[in-house]
Amino acid sequence: RAKQDGRNTYCFFESEMDALMKARRELELDLRSAIEKGQMQLAYQPVINSETLEIAGFEALLRWHHPQRGWVPPSEFIPVAEASGQICDIGAWVLRQACQEARNWPDHLWVAVNVSPVQFKHRDLIQDLNTALLDASMSANRLELEITEGVLLHNTESTLATLESIHSLGVSISMDDFGTGYSSLSYLRMFKFDKIKIDQSFISDLHQTQDARAMIGAITSMCENLGIKTTAEGVETRAQQDILIQQKCSLLQGYLFGRPVLSSELDVYRFAKQQQDYHTR
Ligand code: C2E
Ligand code: MG
Ligand code: MG
Ligand code: MG
Repeated sequence: RAKQDGRNTYCFFESEMDALMKARRELELDLRSAIEKGQMQLAYQPVINSETLEIAGFEALLRWHHPQRGWVPPSEFIPVAEASGQICDIGAWVLRQACQEARNWPDHLWVAVNVSPVQFKHRDLIQDLNTALLDASMSANRLELEITEGVLLHNTESTLATLESIHSLGVSISMDDFGTGYSSLSYLRMFKFDKIKIDQSFISDLHQTQDARAMIGAITSMCENLGIKTTAEGVETRAQQDILIQQKCSLLQGYLFGRPVLSSELDVYRFAKQQQDYHTR
């Protein structure tokens, strides 16, 4: 009897798992043709200089419009693409696309591209970078790569060598989601990052707790001493903005300044003008 129940439970789980696996396989299959079918686009979110309140650059964020499912969030399809290895081709496309699009912007504006740990390890990233920059004839110092601690988790010689090669091209490197990992601080000793992006979880409770404010202040002054710029992610309120400026965070990013805008709808010149008008009002 008990055995019978156990068996039923097992069967139930199995079919649930089957459904999940099936959905994942379908997503993986659809991902294969997503780029060639024109379903992928980049959206750009402005990053603001906290001293001048002018736009300093944009972060490129990948968007997938699936014909049946509609917009699929990156949190859903990036892990699938990483598990299947498709992220390498997708990531190379993102690099090319971001450079092609940013070359038409005013040339004081940089573009930041997210690079997956899988892409970082399994592909000649340097080759992809070079091609993207050359084809767009964009200068390397306008490009920035955002990596997460997943890249540094296995601290091998080759990881550091790749980071150095990126730097020697003139491309900047930021550490994304700073503070969420296990040893964010120790990574700062391993490599000379140009910028860290303080994770939005630190920003969201800024106005509620004194601790959060002290933490931001400690991070920004440490980084200032190390010659590293700081970006606050997920800034949504004016109160947060004020505290972050007071705590000398170099750059601000979040819905307060603008949501990510699809490249097809983005007019960088008009956008920059509107931002200025808003802040001088
Ligand atoms: P991320 O790189 O940390 O990007 C920031 C995320 O925060 C974006 O979500 C952005 O839309 C969101 N965000 C920006 N401002 C605010 C705000 O004020 N409040 C809130 N609540 N959220 C805000 P998104 O676009 O859904 O991307 C999620 C993650 O997916 C990214 O986190 C990044 O890790 C990954 N991702 C996106 N595009 C790419 C890509 O081209 N390649 C790779 N490898 N990963 C990507
Ligand atoms: Mg990012
Ligand atoms: Mg982030
Ligand atoms: Mg994030």
